[in-house]
Amino acid sequence: MKRVIYPGTFDPVTNGHIDIIKRAVDLFDELVVTVAKNPTKNCLFSTEDRLTMLKESLKDYPKVSIDSHDGLVVEHAKEVGAMGIIRGLRAISDFEYEFQMALMNRKLDEDIRTIFLMPHERYTYLNSTIVRNLAQFKGDVSDFVPPIVAKKLKEKYG
Ligand code: ADP
Repeated sequence: MKRVIYPGTFDPVTNGHIDIIKRAVDLFDELVVTVAKNPTKNCLFSTEDRLTMLKESLKDYPKVSIDSHDGLVVEHAKEVGAMGIIRGLRAISDFEYEFQMALMNRKLDEDIRTIFLMPHERYTYLNSTIVRNLAQFKGDVSDFVPPIVAKKLKEKYG
């Protein structure tokens, strides 16, 4: 039974995140998507909203569960019995930060693997910041996020 976690801010979840999740469920038995409660970032959405959007967007994926954590990702991985951490790599620009994190996490616990997955090319330019900015200026976000997220962004920005 191979369980992995996919940690992130998900502020909000985008189709790029969903693409990574689909790839991970093809490879592993169970995936726990875990929302960082107190990220260093200033979030647009509360932890509760971020969880709600993930739960709704992933309700048709029986191998996926959603939770939240604060503190170290490796500690949370151990708590939920995960053998690895899934991260998405969009471009070279992601690499340096992700590489540092992966090495630090391996130093903290060498049994917890970091697994990198690449999304479809159509998502390589997509991130939550771009989606928030687009929504703020009344752009159409529907190609980039699940319907529940488009709805919540509309509620925020009108
Ligand atoms: P962001 O980097 O957009 O703030 P998160 O902190 O929620 O998003 O990211 C969680 C993980 O998902 C990271 O490994 C990040 O590289 C990955 N990720 C984010 N957006 C995408 C995307 N469009 N395609 C693939 N991976 C992504």
